[in-house]
Amino acid sequence: MAWAVPSIRSAGAGKSGSPRPSARRQARWYRGGFGLRPQRAKAVLIAKEEYTAVESQEGFVQHIASKTEDFSQWYIDVVLRAELADYAPVRGCMVIRPHGYALWENMQSLLDARLKATGHKNAYFPLFIPESFLRKEAEHVEGFAPEVAWVTRAGNEELPEPLVVRPTSETVIGHMYAKWIKSWRDLPVLINQWANVVRWEKTTRLFLRTSEFLWQEGHTCHRTAEEAEEETLKILQVYRQFLTEDLAIPVVAGQKTEREKFAGAVRTYCVEALMTDGRALQAGTSHNLGQNFAKVFDITYLDEDNELKHVWQTSWGVSTRLIGGIIMVHGDERGLALPPKIAPVQVVIVPILTASSREVVLSAVGNIQERLSKVCRVEADCREEYSPGWKFNEWELKGVPIRLEIGPRDLKAGQVILVRRDTGEKTAAPMDGLETAVTNMLNAVQKGLYLKAKRFVEDNTRLVEDYDAFKEILETRRGFMDAPWCGDQACETAIKEETGATIRCIPMGRSPRPGKCIHCGKDTDTWVYFARAY
Ligand SMILES: [Zn+2]
Repeated sequence: MAWAVPSIRSAGAGKSGSPRPSARRQARWYRGGFGLRPQRAKAVLIAKEEYTAVESQEGFVQHIASKTEDFSQWYIDVVLRAELADYAPVRGCMVIRPHGYALWENMQSLLDARLKATGHKNAYFPLFIPESFLRKEAEHVEGFAPEVAWVTRAGNEELPEPLVVRPTSETVIGHMYAKWIKSWRDLPVLINQWANVVRWEKTTRLFLRTSEFLWQEGHTCHRTAEEAEEETLKILQVYRQFLTEDLAIPVVAGQKTEREKFAGAVRTYCVEALMTDGRALQAGTSHNLGQNFAKVFDITYLDEDNELKHVWQTSWGVSTRLIGGIIMVHGDERGLALPPKIAPVQVVIVPILTASSREVVLSAVGNIQERLSKVCRVEADCREEYSPGWKFNEWELKGVPIRLEIGPRDLKAGQVILVRRDTGEKTAAPMDGLETAVTNMLNAVQKGLYLKAKRFVEDNTRLVEDYDAFKEILETRRGFMDAPWCGDQACETAIKEETGATIRCIPMGRSPRPGKCIHCGKDTDTWVYFARAY
């Protein structure tokens, strides 16, 4: 059932004699963003009823729960049945399957390019951290201690000092920075690492909250407080662009409250996304660490004025939980719907085979695959043990942005049928200029998914000034609630206890607006985004 395994016979491997196209060719469309310049597609829209093909055939074997009726079950069904991930034998851990991992690799490479373009370099630090390191920063240890996994023994011997399996790497990286940084000439240090981390979670959900997950963590050192703040905000912007442009997920950028900030940070900024069940998801965070870690790890530099000073630091990360976000923002009743930029397969070719035309159709499939592989990630599903209808459903479940159908009638007409995953729209596209038609359609799907998600956020962001209305919305429609807050942590905590909603962020770039705190009624000019969150 999985693709790119020998059981999928590629068209070219048949009797047509053309070479077997590579299973997952890195395409220009993907590397260069949208390689081809958008042109008017030479495609004609045809009405659904005119194209009857084989959809009525048997075999929808998906059995995923209804998204509207049981969102959590739907989510799990999609993760499992689209073969993104599976439960591991250790509770709270997950196995990321090839389809899920290919998705992660595409996300990784796009974000990695953005981080490198802003001057960051990758490195790798160890998985194990001495206990004493974690204890050095008081807030940090308090924040992470409850979910830390320990190594106390190696073979038969007790370790002289217990080791922590990294929940995050500020401490070990700080230790190394203290060694490497001597002078103002060594600054800034802009390092990122792609790694796994472990946070022992009590309740877990595939991708969204797992005891071990994959992420990138950036750790930088600067000469001044201003430079560190600038870096923190620059990364927030990188995340915002990555989310909106690559993952087609609209976000609200803002600052976390004291209560919600990272343990050990001076300030935490975040991008928050809204899932289609009305819950928020923290999609990325960027922390200004000030000199907190620099002081405990003694990271100093000799400045131009010959004075020894502590560096100013930042750290920031996004993780595999974003995959959960992609599923919940774009998925629908038919399963996953992937933005083309990150989809492991962007176009799947499904031939309609009949006994008399089998060879000529397969040969055309080989030819189309060869052509399209130059502009996108394309696969051909030429399995004959499954009906086309069955395959349509399977690829829809897996979220492939475009399905290309070709049968003997299309061949005679010199065309193929393109079907968009996001809208279900069918288009007959001539063989001539097919590369352009496909590229334009991939662009259109990417844009379409983003606009649909954006509309959802707009429709589900509500100005609320009354606490009863606030509670009522949380029980029914949920979404973001833009409400006045006095700035007092006691109110924030009480709201959380009474309603389950947290302050997702204090949105950036807004002018003050008078209001009365949603909880205590005190005058304030700060409005914040509340939501229940994952
Ligand atoms: Zn208040």
